[in-house]
Amino acid sequence: MLKMIEENEADIYRALYQDLSKPESEAFISEVAMTTGSCKLALKELDQWMKPQKAKTTVTTYPSSAEIVSEPLGIVLVISTWNYPFLLSLDPVIGALAAGNAVVLKPSEIAPASASLLSKLFREYLDNSAVKVVEGAVDETTALLEQKWDKIFYTGNGRVGRIIMAAAAKHLTPVILELGGKCPAVVDSNTNLQVSAKRIVAGKWGCNNGQTCIAPDYIITTKAFAPKLIDALKNELVEFFGDYPMKSKDMSRLINLYHFKRLTSLMDEDEVSDKIVVGGQRNEEQLKISPTILLDVPETSQIMQEEIFGPLLPILTVDNVEDSFNIINSRSKPLAAYIFTSDEELKKAFVRDISAGGMLINDTIIHLTVDSLPFGGVGESGMGSYHGKFSFDSFSHKKGVLYRGFTGDSPTRFPPYTPAKLRLL
Ligand code: NAD
Repeated sequence: MLKMIEENEADIYRALYQDLSKPESEAFISEVAMTTGSCKLALKELDQWMKPQKAKTTVTTYPSSAEIVSEPLGIVLVISTWNYPFLLSLDPVIGALAAGNAVVLKPSEIAPASASLLSKLFREYLDNSAVKVVEGAVDETTALLEQKWDKIFYTGNGRVGRIIMAAAAKHLTPVILELGGKCPAVVDSNTNLQVSAKRIVAGKWGCNNGQTCIAPDYIITTKAFAPKLIDALKNELVEFFGDYPMKSKDMSRLINLYHFKRLTSLMDEDEVSDKIVVGGQRNEEQLKISPTILLDVPETSQIMQEEIFGPLLPILTVDNVEDSFNIINSRSKPLAAYIFTSDEELKKAFVRDISAGGMLINDTIIHLTVDSLPFGGVGESGMGSYHGKFSFDSFSHKKGVLYRGFTGDSPTRFPPYTPAKLRLL
């Protein structure tokens, strides 16, 4: 697979440009380098990951020894999504293969150039008796879901996540669901404003133009600090994408007309459209919406109800930064939660009081690149996790094995249970 990716980088960039007009540097970092990195890590660490783990025994089993043995689950179905069509297809496949499984990958039909390239490359480079691509949309996925699998790994939205889990339940198949949600970013006034703004802009618009499951979905800051934050975000946007971001070559476009219309309708809702403080431009033909910031949209508006998954960034304001915790906790548990602050107590409280799939203090998105951290959701943002050794473990069965010799049986263990034996207990 490593060879497959390295020898076909140019085709991968072409497919990503066709599907999302993804800039090459972004495609290199988030799709090529991350997947080759996962391959190399698995190749380097696999011997270690596979080693049986010694386990403690109890007095009841004395004398004995114990270990936990990882064994493959069998055949794994990976159903992938369109926003990082290579990374989110290949990364789970790498984990599943490393753990010794056979794999069927169903890439997303919404990124067709990437799906067909994956299918072609798998045919050319990989052992198709162990791993193959099945292309298709709802009908094909439904047919796949009727089969019995040993694990299903799904990335996508929660509505389909429920369909996957219901289908899996028929065969008692375990699932990993990598879903989405509204990821909050809290910005305290006690922060390095310029660095915070740069990292928010990078995580929101610099990665696939907001079409990222862990992109900051909305910001919460104090009323007093909001104007300064908005100015800083504006400056960074100009720094990154110039005065005409719609013309920038450094930003992906929206995936398709359906999502363009969904996003424009979020912006055009009553009581929302007049809250735009930055951006708001759109071009349907090019499937582009400029980076758009909205201030104080109603919490009940659609833009604050559904995952945005695009270049719109609402900012909610509160009197005290701690009030942000109630807002976050009153909603579904997000896939990621961010806070920008220099206040150590506030950082501690955020980690302690907010539940999220993962968390990053003073930055956005890049926790995804740390292989020693599990990546996955909680509650509505999903279940199970992967990356690095967590992938290997997620696609393995952990078999507990106890070894005994033929000596050392306590007489109390076997009938007849006499009063004399009872006294020995
Ligand atoms: P999508 O439309 O590509 O759907 C994902 C997969 O589900 C596709 O392979 C598709 O064929 C299949 N599918 C769609 N409808 C189906 C049905 N009725 N029955 C069976 N299969 C069906 O992608 P999407 O759902 O629009 O993806 C965006 C969502 O994914 C967002 O919520 C985002 O946050 C989430 N996401 C999560 C992660 C993560 O790692 N947690 C990563 C990326 C995206």
